[in-house]
Amino acid sequence: WKKTMKIAVTGAAGQISNHLLFMLASGEVFGRDQPIALQLLGSDRSREALEGVAMELEDSLYPLLREVKLGIDPLKVFEDADWALLIGAKPRGPGMERSALLDINGQIFQEQARALNEVASRDCKMLVVGNPCNTNALIGIHNAPDLPARNWHALTRLDENRAKCQLAIKAGKFYTSVTNVAIWGNHSTTQVPDFLNAKIGGVRVPNVIRDQQWLKEEFTPKVANRGGALIKKWGRSSAASTAVSIADHLRSLYTPTPTGDCFSTAVYTAGNPYGLDEDLVFSMPCRSTGDGNYEVINDFVIDDWLRAKLEESEQELRKERDCVGHLIPG
Ligand code: NDP
Repeated sequence: WKKTMKIAVTGAAGQISNHLLFMLASGEVFGRDQPIALQLLGSDRSREALEGVAMELEDSLYPLLREVKLGIDPLKVFEDADWALLIGAKPRGPGMERSALLDINGQIFQEQARALNEVASRDCKMLVVGNPCNTNALIGIHNAPDLPARNWHALTRLDENRAKCQLAIKAGKFYTSVTNVAIWGNHSTTQVPDFLNAKIGGVRVPNVIRDQQWLKEEFTPKVANRGGALIKKWGRSSAASTAVSIADHLRSLYTPTPTGDCFSTAVYTAGNPYGLDEDLVFSMPCRSTGDGNYEVINDFVIDDWLRAKLEESEQELRKERDCVGHLIPG
């Protein structure tokens, strides 16, 4: 047996976690030979609900689930964590702008990053899901100076999955034939699903779907606005598909990326090969050798249209960073 992996989860009584925790415990994410311990962070609001979650996990008799620890103090819950899945955040109310969320959620991430810096494993990896996830992750990086900045991720895998689905439908192919799809930028409506470098059946998308107008004016906004469209239908944000995409994100880091393919994750831009502002968390195409680490792929083609879109998202992230300057030390 491998050494037990300690996975801390925040917002553990929320909708996304309600799907994700069971996927983690089943072994389908980290492997069927990887024992795990779940360290769940709640609050006074969620104390009872969290105990309910723990009861359901116990009753599922997962052989790989060695321990479930609950708590409301991040300094205790994050102790020795190998992974921190930071899902909890105040949800955006109707008509509420992302910018209004920045300050409230920024404070949560500042506190949690400080706690991780104190007590987590020195190679702890963090995945921020709670929105606005890119800037929350940036706050995390600056408030956890003893943890590697490159270990912070913000989730854009759901956007990648949505883009793959739309390309497959348009091309009349199954989604497994759609590869090398990158999401660039912010997990917001300025995100850029990259059709230029994406492939269907190994052929570049613009050579398969020849309708440039559809690619630029329909596909791009459809992917970027999919989250909002789903909230209108469901009355709540995506939960099951988000949990699936978190599982996909984690699996991508522990599986060697096939040659010519990539996965999307928003990571720290220091030293990035695309000339982007070096102090942002920006989604880029990455690959992994399968050991939990990644590298940014440096040879994606960027044309004028894509460059202009990237700059829009970069600009939005700079503005977000300005709004949370008081939460970023030094
Ligand atoms: P829920 O509302 O179901 O759960 C959110 C949890 O956040 C709550 O259980 C609560 O847990 C915690 N929380 C922390 N601070 C507050 C606060 N001030 N007010 C209320 N709750 C708070 O949300 P979901 O699980 O559906 O979504 C979680 C986050 O993920 C959201 O920020 C959402 O926008 C984001 N998201 C990101 C996606 C992505 O692709 N990056 C996709 C979909 C969602 P507790 O009381 O225990 O702290």
